Amino acid sequence: MKQNLKNTKLNVELTKDIINENFISAKINSRGREDKDDAFFIADLSDIVRKYKTWKRELPRVEPFYAVKCNDNAGVLSVLAELGTGFDCASKAEVSKIMGLKVSPSRVIYANPCKQSSHIRYAAKNDVALMTFDNISELHKVKANHPNAKLVVRILPPDGTKAQCELGMKFGAHPKDVPKLLKTAKDLGLNVVGVSFHVGSGCYDPTAFPAAVASARAVFDMGETAGFHFDLLDIGGGFPGQKSAKISFEAICGPLRSALDAYFPESKGVRIIAEPGRFFVASAFTLAVNIIAKRAVVGEEIADDYTSSGDVEPKFMYYVNDGVYGSFNCLLFDHAEVVPQLVHAEEYADEPLFTCSIWGPTCDGIDCISDETQLPEMFSGDWLIFRDMGAYTMCAASSFNGMPKPRSYYVMQDSAWVQMQQHMNDVEMRPRTFSSSKCPMKEFSSSPHAESEVHVDI
Ligand code: PLP
Repeated sequence: MKQNLKNTKLNVELTKDIINENFISAKINSRGREDKDDAFFIADLSDIVRKYKTWKRELPRVEPFYAVKCNDNAGVLSVLAELGTGFDCASKAEVSKIMGLKVSPSRVIYANPCKQSSHIRYAAKNDVALMTFDNISELHKVKANHPNAKLVVRILPPDGTKAQCELGMKFGAHPKDVPKLLKTAKDLGLNVVGVSFHVGSGCYDPTAFPAAVASARAVFDMGETAGFHFDLLDIGGGFPGQKSAKISFEAICGPLRSALDAYFPESKGVRIIAEPGRFFVASAFTLAVNIIAKRAVVGEEIADDYTSSGDVEPKFMYYVNDGVYGSFNCLLFDHAEVVPQLVHAEEYADEPLFTCSIWGPTCDGIDCISDETQLPEMFSGDWLIFRDMGAYTMCAASSFNGMPKPRSYYVMQDSAWVQMQQHMNDVEMRPRTFSSSKCPMKEFSSSPHAESEVHVDI
């Protein structure tokens, strides 16, 4: 019997995002895609411009250095470079990518406390001076490979942070161990310029940043005692970025602003930077996947020949063309929660829902995206979309089983383009990836609602 209860109807509100939906529909029926059933991302670059404006409003004293590891997509990096953000790089390849955008090395922090020697030499060769450390052996490596580096000691934030991914078990010196690190740095003739921390990625605890800022203040005093003059505070990443985040960015920023003003008042002249990743990109990306196969299960049995008039309600297994070895690696590594949605869900509003599971395309049983969810009956060839898929998804995807990684199609609304142009006129340090006379997003101008897009291979 099909379910027909009130709460088994699709929540159409969840999927309201007309501009991008029109784009997704257009792409599904699209021109220019090699295999029409390939999974793909729609990247709304306007969302990144909006995030930048939100950052400036909420944290005007804090310079964002975008964490490249979170999503190194070419469109993302270009827009952020144009907006004038800095970049947090974790490796030689990431530094090289940012240098390729003609960003000044002064806008880069090499924020990995445990670096490969040859990567440190690469940073030195490219004049990237700012870098973090949290252990003595790193200091010896820096002395040997980049003696003029400007070092930032990464501390362990106070216990008890609530975050999607904790980092404290791997990185950060306990403040009680900092004096020893600073003495070693002094003995080696190295220059330590400040303090950094990371409260954990996807932090949903509004007390975490203020507690870490207070702890950093105490470490600044240790710096003075050791004979350094610290003038840089790096408050790391951890800011929420998904539309579905447990806590808003604003709720994190209020107490953080107060703590910065209390412990690092503007009058003291300390430069404050941050390393946000998820915040800038999570909500900008929507993934569209194609249902490539379907099975029906009745009771314990596979029953592809079930009849809709039968007494027992079938469950469905849908196989889609991206999975945990691809973009959905976020389920394993990022502890993400993903929700399947339908393009133009209003068209399904009166359809009954069925219990179903959603599987990735590889031959591995672990490749399961959702073991139980509710959807109207779908068919091979139909599409599902997943929003909030910009952070820690494509950057860690593999092509296991030969499965292709989804391409990204970029969208930018005219209003965001104009804002970006205005901003570029206001800032001096811009690498000019985009010429101000021609908007590359205009290349494939389409509907009046979703004005422009550019397509870049990934
Ligand atoms: N900085 C460092 C050193 C990190 O390790 C990470 C993420 O792991 C980030 C910044 C970005 O964190 P988030 O995406 O939570 O802002």
